[in-house]
Amino acid sequence: MDTPSEDPRARLERLASELDQRLARIGARERHEDGPPSQDFAEQATERENDDVIGALALDTRLQLGLVRKALRRLDAGDYGVCVECGTPIPSARLAALPWAEHCVACAERLEGRHA
Ligand SMILES: [Zn+2]
Repeated sequence: MDTPSEDPRARLERLASELDQRLARIGARERHEDGPPSQDFAEQATERENDDVIGALALDTRLQLGLVRKALRRLDAGDYGVCVECGTPIPSARLAALPWAEHCVACAERLEGRHA
């Protein structure tokens, strides 16, 4: 499991490959490669609901993967762990919880407030 001493690059690369695999599985579900659509009306309704859930999951996973890839690019550029908004170092506890974090706590809260 994750340890505080683990290299953020290793964590992020592992996350990126996990998210890639998840997207591949979601893509297979979206294309119904796991079987033909059911002929039963009630089951079709359930499958459409599942499609919505899968679509939301795919969107979440793509967003997450984008954040992880951006964090890897920041590592390459040498500005990983620094808030992209104000340049303040991001606390290591925050990076341990969210290795793809690109904002310090204050900026994240401000940005979330703006979107709320
Ligand atoms: Zn900041």
